[in-house]
Amino acid sequence: MRDETKMKDDERTYLGVAVPRPPVAFFELSSCEGCQLQLFNNEAGLLDFLDLVEIVNFREAMTEKSDHYQIAFVEGSVTRTDEEERLRTIRDNAELVVALGSCACFGGVNQLKNRFNDLDWVVREVYGDYAISSQAARPLADVIRVDLEIFGCPVKKEEVERIVTNLVLGKPVHHPQYPICMECKARENVCLFDLGEPCLGPVTRAGCDAWCPSNRLGCWGCRGPAPAANMAELRDIVVRKQISLERLLDRLECFGGFADEAHILRQELEGRS
Ligand code: SF4
Ligand code: SF4
Ligand code: SF4
Repeated sequence: MRDETKMKDDERTYLGVAVPRPPVAFFELSSCEGCQLQLFNNEAGLLDFLDLVEIVNFREAMTEKSDHYQIAFVEGSVTRTDEEERLRTIRDNAELVVALGSCACFGGVNQLKNRFNDLDWVVREVYGDYAISSQAARPLADVIRVDLEIFGCPVKKEEVERIVTNLVLGKPVHHPQYPICMECKARENVCLFDLGEPCLGPVTRAGCDAWCPSNRLGCWGCRGPAPAANMAELRDIVVRKQISLERLLDRLECFGGFADEAHILRQELEGRS
């Protein structure tokens, strides 16, 4: 595999210097495949993106398959034993494994089912008599070592392109260290709290350019917590704005990134009732 890679690298040069074009594979576990689809949404930049890497595995876009890849992008959460095995094989094959999207990073919307004590009941309710194996939804990092996470539900294509460019050029990848509110203010949006709607912008990691608040929707935290997220302050804002803590809990539970905070709040609210 490595010799093959080297040969392809050597084919591309700029001013006599070899330009790397690593073989890249995309995989999906339990997911809606929306993150992979995002990559094809950017028609203006698609050809440049495809030129950057050699895609050797991408079920949504090609029939050819290869186990020879350096970078594996894995979308979706782990909910079945066969997915666990597949993920370990991907880890063995790849030099770098990237968790693509909230399902892969935190369990995503799939992890909502983990709140039910009886998962067999959940499977029966959802699939009826159709026998299907489905366990608790887990992020990739619960099963294998993950080298890099790309957050979002779905991921933002411009961010993926920037990260892939950095990976190809061997540059470090940095995620924003500030919360969504910074991007929201830069876009001069009216704060949704002032319109009576909850928003996780104060505690959620930026990088989506305040996608939801810019479209008049409060943030649901799909990118997970910002470093040093001030949960106590968020709670104070929610109380001051006379928004119920149950509505805050709905948002904290949605994607799995705030699982610890949601667990504490749920216990508190259940203790009150
Ligand atoms: S993170 Fe969201 S868009 Fe991506 S696969 Fe999961 S549910 Fe779909
Ligand atoms: S709308 Fe949300 S993201 Fe924007 S400033 Fe208000 S709390 Fe922050
Ligand atoms: S605003 Fe919040 S919920 Fe919307 S895309 Fe950004 S991080 Fe996700």
